[in-house]
Amino acid sequence: MAHVTGLRCRECGRDFEIAPIFTCEWCFGPLEVSYDYDAISESVSRESIERGPSSIWRYADLLPADRGASVDLGAGFTPLVRADRLAAELGLGEVWVKNDTLNPTGSFKDRVVAVALSKALEFGFKTASCASTGNLANSVAAHAAHAGLRSFVFIPADLETGKVVTTAVYGGTLVAVKGNYDDVNRLCAELASTYEWAFVNVNIRPYYAEGSKTLAYETVEQLGWEYPDHVVVPIASGSQFTKIRKGFDELHNVGLTDEAPAVRMSGAQAEGCSPVAVAFRDDSDTIKPVKPSTIAKSLAIGNPADGYFALDAAHQTGGVIESVTDDEIVEGIRLLARTEGIFGETAAGVTVGTLAKLAAAGVVRPDERVVIYVTGHGLKTIEAVASHVGPTAEIEPTLEAFDAELSPDE
Ligand SMILES: *Cc1c(COP(=O)(O)O)cnc(C)c1O
Ligand SMILES: [Zn+2]
Repeated sequence: MAHVTGLRCRECGRDFEIAPIFTCEWCFGPLEVSYDYDAISESVSRESIERGPSSIWRYADLLPADRGASVDLGAGFTPLVRADRLAAELGLGEVWVKNDTLNPTGSFKDRVVAVALSKALEFGFKTASCASTGNLANSVAAHAAHAGLRSFVFIPADLETGKVVTTAVYGGTLVAVKGNYDDVNRLCAELASTYEWAFVNVNIRPYYAEGSKTLAYETVEQLGWEYPDHVVVPIASGSQFTKIRKGFDELHNVGLTDEAPAVRMSGAQAEGCSPVAVAFRDDSDTIKPVKPSTIAKSLAIGNPADGYFALDAAHQTGGVIESVTDDEIVEGIRLLARTEGIFGETAAGVTVGTLAKLAAAGVVRPDERVVIYVTGHGLKTIEAVASHVGPTAEIEPTLEAFDAELSPDE
């Protein structure tokens, strides 16, 4: 049962009824779901959550879908992996990897889409839609297929083959738009006022965004109901980043943690699309839109909707927002794979590369309990590493050929 009280404007604080709306009609600020935290405190306990399903729906009381998991492919409750070998390479102490590559369509987007489409069904929509940098496209197409909804998915035409194929296979309508994500998003804003569709990241965005809070809930539950000291989170629109913070706060608000959170929130961007990191570096509170040019296409949003709020969260919690080059992204992917056996996509390379940079600078410290969010599977962006790795040797099928070419010690 949801304990939602309504929608609230994040700028002016005015309240609105639950509906498929996303901006304040007074100040055009973004709307956010608000809850009755006293009611939630009464209805949840650590035990009730631990008895729940192994998915985001174990936290249904803290999510905005009234009928719970109406659209469910099993998103969430992914492993939190202790990463001692990665920590040792970087000179850190306690590092954990939240392995969100293991979601149904291989990225964290399954969390937000499961919530968005569950809400869309409640509103009576028959068609799901989105503007996507790739992973959202995969997830909307899959969840729509599962729920029997029509889907119209819009992507930039230059996306990785892996992401195009893994969207198209679900059989919805996939539209490749000749432009970058910000062009696609602008088109979708127009379409959203013409067609009565559930655009998960336009008119359903307030509900969609809440799904990211489950990353914070799971992290704390998996750490034995304790908070990390420092997290590193990739930033595209900045939504995930701000909602992880909201999730940490809510757990304390509803009495599930003993201590109040003191989690430093650090953000990771690709240098070729780093409007939030640049604003942080320049100590400015205006985000200047950029034209993206990076291999981290899933994070290539040049005009991030939640950029300002992400910046604010980093400042308020003593975190930083940093960026890494395309070479550092590839190194980051390979470092995580080599040390921990986890193959992440380019967004993971951004996060691991940023962790390495912040560790070297002493910003992420060896005395901190650190969690990094690895948000997408490496098989989706094979081309990022394809020219860097391959067979160690190619040999004839004989023992002599093997020994001659490789001669290992034992
Ligand atoms: C969408 C996405 C993110 C972050 O998205 P926000 O827009 O900042 O919420 C991070 N990693 C991956 C792999 C993504 O697809
Ligand atoms: Zn307002």
